Amino acid sequence: MKLKKLDQGKEYTTDAIVIGAGPIGLFAVFELGLLDIKTHLVDILDNPGGQCTELYPEKPIYDIPGIPKISGQGLTDELLKQIAPFDPSFHLSQMAESLFQNENKEWVLETNEKTKITSKVVIIAAGGGSFVPKKPPIPNIEKYEQLGFVKYSLKKLDEYKNKNILITGGGDSALDWTNILAPIANKVTLVHRRDEFRAAPDSVSKMHKFRDEGKVDLKIGQVKELNGENKLEEVQIESIGGENKYDIKTDYLMPFFGLTMKLGPIANFGLNLERNLINVDSEKFETNVKKIFAIGDINFYPGKLKLILSGFHEAALMSQQAFKYIFPEKKLRFQYTTTSSSLQNKLGIK
Ligand code: FAD
Repeated sequence: MKLKKLDQGKEYTTDAIVIGAGPIGLFAVFELGLLDIKTHLVDILDNPGGQCTELYPEKPIYDIPGIPKISGQGLTDELLKQIAPFDPSFHLSQMAESLFQNENKEWVLETNEKTKITSKVVIIAAGGGSFVPKKPPIPNIEKYEQLGFVKYSLKKLDEYKNKNILITGGGDSALDWTNILAPIANKVTLVHRRDEFRAAPDSVSKMHKFRDEGKVDLKIGQVKELNGENKLEEVQIESIGGENKYDIKTDYLMPFFGLTMKLGPIANFGLNLERNLINVDSEKFETNVKKIFAIGDINFYPGKLKLILSGFHEAALMSQQAFKYIFPEKKLRFQYTTTSSSLQNKLGIK
């Protein structure tokens, strides 16, 4: 399915906003779609799939009902196929940051990229929270983050043309960005704790080729100190035993140590929380705030199991109540996809 990605920084209106495009957010689009409810999905990641694609894309899952074995990426691909008839809109690489009610009592969600989406209901399917980059323990790193010289993700490559870049890490992101930046930067220094990498062998060979050509400098050690007045100027590297220290001139530091999950701004949405999970009832999966639901790993109710199949069930029940809020004048009829020609029409089945 080709994702319908909308422009950032604009205003949109829809029936339902789904925060989180993990497996449960994606399946919610299907259940809502069967009830004629249109959705916009927001996710901080640049691809849908949540934990399935970010943490275990190739590992098999064995407990999806009716599917004996499927990988994390495979399940995401199938869910995307399943929701394609409902043509959901995606706002990716954006953090759902604040939520408030307008004068018409509709919900307005604002992202960190200033996208504003107005809707009648909000479904939080934020899993373990938003994925955020792991920060290295360097004493004054915040100063240079604020000045914009420490980057955890890269958008405009032009910014790095002819610059000196120092990348740390040994996984796919560190190696991929080393290889992308080597041809355009003045110099890329890759710093890693050992001369072995977790990245794809292809990327490692490419990096070694750039090193042989003098475009990449590989240093074994770790970053200890950042220096510079109003900008980053020098990074101090220490060898693993601590016996050698040396300074490297650089314009940017790019640490790539993977991602961790944090509840993030949702904690400030005014919802009742229990140990960083959102309290819901187990009939409608609604929070303490009317028209805001929470489904999947992010919610808590007695007997909750953090399984994909539980989230799918929650999405189905949540949708029934969302329908009542969105179409108060309509009667909700229970139908099977097997026998209802009306549902089959919505799914594009001839
Ligand atoms: P997630 O998959 O966590 O997706 C939530 C999404 O919300 C993320 O993409 C996140 O970026 C986004 N998000 C959060 N906050 C924000 C915000 N403020 N703004 C924007 N985006 C936001 N379950 C099973 O049933 N069977 C298994 O075999 C199984 N194996 C697993 C193996 C591993 C290694 C792991 C880690 C988990 C496994 N699970 C398994 C658990 C399963 O992956 C989760 O139950 C499932 O991913 C929950 O889906 P979700 O959509 O609720 O949340």
